[in-house]
Amino acid sequence: MGFIHIAFLSFLFVCTYAASPPNFVLIFADDLGFGDLGCYGHPSSLTPNLDRLAAGGLRFTNFYCTSPVCSPSRASLLTGRYQTRSGIYPGVLYPGSIGGLPLNETTIAELLKPLGYATAAVGKWHLGVGANGKFLPTRQGFDEYLGIPYSHDMGPCHNLTCFPPDVKCFGMCDLGTVMVPLMHNEVIKQQPVNFLDLEQAYSDFSTSFIAAAAARNEPFFLYYASHHTHYPQYAGLGAAGKTSRGPFGDALLEFDNTVGNLLATLESTGVINNTLVFFTSDNGPSLMRMSRGGNAGALKCGKGTTYDGGMREPAIAFWPGMIKPGVSHELASTLDILPTIAQLAGAKVPPVELDGVDMTEILLNHGKSQRDTMMFYPTDASETFGLFALRLRKYKAHFYTQGSIHSSTTPDKDCSGLALLKPHDPPLLFDVEADPSEHYPLLLDDHPHLQELLEKIKRVKEKFESSMLFGESQISKGTDPQLEPCCNPLCSPKPSCCQCH
Ligand code: MG
Repeated sequence: MGFIHIAFLSFLFVCTYAASPPNFVLIFADDLGFGDLGCYGHPSSLTPNLDRLAAGGLRFTNFYCTSPVCSPSRASLLTGRYQTRSGIYPGVLYPGSIGGLPLNETTIAELLKPLGYATAAVGKWHLGVGANGKFLPTRQGFDEYLGIPYSHDMGPCHNLTCFPPDVKCFGMCDLGTVMVPLMHNEVIKQQPVNFLDLEQAYSDFSTSFIAAAAARNEPFFLYYASHHTHYPQYAGLGAAGKTSRGPFGDALLEFDNTVGNLLATLESTGVINNTLVFFTSDNGPSLMRMSRGGNAGALKCGKGTTYDGGMREPAIAFWPGMIKPGVSHELASTLDILPTIAQLAGAKVPPVELDGVDMTEILLNHGKSQRDTMMFYPTDASETFGLFALRLRKYKAHFYTQGSIHSSTTPDKDCSGLALLKPHDPPLLFDVEADPSEHYPLLLDDHPHLQELLEKIKRVKEKFESSMLFGESQISKGTDPQLEPCCNPLCSPKPSCCQCH
């Protein structure tokens, strides 16, 4: 009788679970550093909603993205594969790029669609537009899309903030490109986009999507890739001038407000206990923007570099009743999100070489990571140079170091664009737990036992690189100005005529 009772309860559990697979809300910030959030120690950021996620969820301290710049990092997030496999290298995609994330790559959205998930992408795509929009989110498993399909500095600057009024870009944007468009699915809705209303539009679209899916009792996947806090910073009425941190702080606050709206909607629609909310960022802070760039906290350098400031990110997993609040020091990556979502949803992982590992054990039991390595490719990844650095558990070995214009203006000369490519043989070795700032290389003379470790690192590197098949570079296909999104495609002279009111 007892057995039957237990068997019945298990059956009931399976049925209930199968009837309501979990929802996923993946929130991706832009150029946000390890030290930018209140819950990661920033003294003047206002991030009450992200702090609430961290307080009620699991906050990671060893979480990495796969590239110090936008497009490659996003390719890895959505495919669970290093960007070199999918061809999103070297550098980033542009409005007129001929290539994009290849359609035969399986994104998280495509993984979930066969299970009946409603899917939406909101915000910055940056994985290509292409001829007739063939690389847009709607071609990669997303039912709906609202957003700017690339970075919002990839067009002439216009008014970006309402406090003080009429403040334009602080620096240069891309003047020879079409005005920045706002797209709904595959149609241009506004060109130029109105930045003062943009975050509210994103928030309304996202909360409507959640409410509609919840009302239909459908599982859903929302990918919200915010343009905040990338340069140039913008903010609407609700946030402009409201923080002591200036334009970056205002942009971050406006982003945080949307996080609050998403949480409130998950609560009011009654699905919050069946939703994994995961937050992280695509790459480290753009230190060249000085106080209008982000902050890498204790980490070395920022955007554009393979030091930890360029690629170690804040990350928070929140799921009331399923994830116990706490902090995880386990090694994890954006690569691991796809296999983890697959595991939780009961989806099949794609039959390709995946670089991600399932991290449900970390999330649900505060357990150990299946990952003990992290590979670091530079902005301009190439087969010639291969890995710039490799982390094996607490050790990080740099085979090459190079500064970046994105990380210039810091007092640390290694970060600047003037710090040229430098090979290291033997590699420059750090214990990034004892020395997260990568200040003090471990010297073989002082630590002779490290010889064995270096040999192991060399073997891991060789094994990984022999498994790495570089996909055809999508970015080297170049650009065609005719492919830049234009609301008035037959107009002239371009790009200035691409404006619609
Ligand atoms: Mg970025």
